[in-house]
Amino acid sequence: MSTIEIKPDYYDDFHCIGGECSFTCCQEWKISVDRQTKKKWRSVTAPGDLKQNGRLPSGLSEHSSLSQFIKKVDDTDVIGLLPDMKCPFLDCDHLCRLVKEHGEEMLSVTCHEFPRENHAFPDRTEKALVSCCPEIVDRWNEKETLNFTGLDYKDGEALKCGSVNDILKLTRDLMMFHLSDESSDNRTNLLTAFFILLDIYNKDSIDDIKDYTDPESIIKLKKSIKKLERNEEDSMNERNELFLDITENYSSEGRYTGFLKPLREASLSFLYDNTDKFNELLSTYEKLLRNYLVSETFSNLLIPGMDLRDMVLQFEWMMMEYASILQALYLTWTMTPDHKLTYESVRDMIVLISRLTGYDASDIEEYLTNSFESPVWDFGYADFLLG
Ligand code: SF4
Repeated sequence: MSTIEIKPDYYDDFHCIGGECSFTCCQEWKISVDRQTKKKWRSVTAPGDLKQNGRLPSGLSEHSSLSQFIKKVDDTDVIGLLPDMKCPFLDCDHLCRLVKEHGEEMLSVTCHEFPRENHAFPDRTEKALVSCCPEIVDRWNEKETLNFTGLDYKDGEALKCGSVNDILKLTRDLMMFHLSDESSDNRTNLLTAFFILLDIYNKDSIDDIKDYTDPESIIKLKKSIKKLERNEEDSMNERNELFLDITENYSSEGRYTGFLKPLREASLSFLYDNTDKFNELLSTYEKLLRNYLVSETFSNLLIPGMDLRDMVLQFEWMMMEYASILQALYLTWTMTPDHKLTYESVRDMIVLISRLTGYDASDIEEYLTNSFESPVWDFGYADFLLG
């Protein structure tokens, strides 16, 4: 059993704030139930007071087993929500009835662990906190930069000591290194990292890590990326189409209607206009979005069982998430009478888009295969999307 543990330095301090939460995970989301929990729930009856509190789903009684609260959505077992889109076990004090009655061990794996994720590799365990929880976004907002115990990803010299035999970890750490660069903006960092990732993928090796960390070469690469010709209007139209596409599923199921209805209306009537003022406001959240990208890369780019191609697809998916967040923020900004962009709205959009795009690797591959000529993009499309 591996004893090396890599985790963000705020990992152990995280506590769910329950009733104080501004964007609870017990409402509107698809809360999956694993097979073991489903089996256990077959022999446990529902909490006794659900009926008197009006929390019993239609067709169920106080004698129903917990497994009868499960529904199939998109081929996944999830807890069926009530018409108010809340989990039937969510109490009026925003605490969980299952925990109150049976203790934490009655929860599904998702409810028990969220927003934590553990990835066990032969030589180490990686522990992450994911972007679907507003409490985590608050941490990123407070911090100038993200630190991880057991991982010195910001030091190019330390990366040179990484084993080229573990090409996957070295590549992931290299992506974090480039995304954390405070001397350039997030778009340039994303494109720089993606350019390098495609190069490693095409060569299927890292001959010399210095090729990807040498400061002079990186400055030259970034200059070339910045000089590329772009048409902001075309790129925004593309991001708008993407936003409509990734929100369609949740919108048609009536989830997150409070957010999605006005945003999709604004998106459907979207017409490009001067974005200078918006971009100026957005730049005040550059640090938060940088921390978001570094954390997403740590938690999603390398999951046990992945290969280099999977990492490329995950990186593309992260760029799509980022592009959708930018579009959601632009639409929010246009709808706000005084054209402000508050921290709370930035946090909400990060959490919302992260929840809507939280698919597993096979779903991501299917989406990319169905949507693009090739699931592995060429660099030009990434530049177009983020342009
Ligand atoms: S979103 Fe985070 S803070 Fe809010 S209820 Fe869920 S785990 Fe707790």
